Amino acid sequence: MVERTLVLVKPDGVQRQLVGRIVARYEERGLKIVGLKLVHVDRALAERHYAVHKGKPFFEGLVAFITSGPLVALALEAPNAIGLVRTMNGATKPAEAAPGTIRGDLAIEMGQNLVHASDSPESAATELAIWFAPGELLSFDREIDRWVLGPQS
Ligand code: UDP
Ligand code: MG
Repeated sequence: MVERTLVLVKPDGVQRQLVGRIVARYEERGLKIVGLKLVHVDRALAERHYAVHKGKPFFEGLVAFITSGPLVALALEAPNAIGLVRTMNGATKPAEAAPGTIRGDLAIEMGQNLVHASDSPESAATELAIWFAPGELLSFDREIDRWVLGPQS
């Protein structure tokens, strides 16, 4: 089933000048970018995004980190995009992330693990609505889709 998922290239990715390389991985895989913007989020939006973690010991540090500088928000579309992107990002702890994943290749510390991705259809719907107004997400065809997704697409 075609899904949309929310990805953040967190402030460490912007500061380390890895935005292009990280976005390129999703593009090269064949995911369609249907939304993209640079945002310096305020505390209120950060708290909404990470509401499931409110009250946990790492919450304050996480909010401070995510609001510390600009980040890139992406909406990606593909069949099974939610699981696909989680697999591409790798385990939350970069030390446990497999080589070939973004975190496994480019990160060391859990607090600086470069990327966020929605973890379920419910969180994808909630998070896409937090980060993008309805009109900011585009639907369009790509000529390459029959080569990426097959002749029926
Ligand atoms: N995090 C942290 N310490 C923890 C758990 C999580 O700093 O003990 C951070 C980490 O950056 C992670 C984010 O909080 O990416 C959200 O945690 P989650 O468990 O949702 O991991 P993710 O979905 O990002 O893999
Ligand atoms: Mg998460």
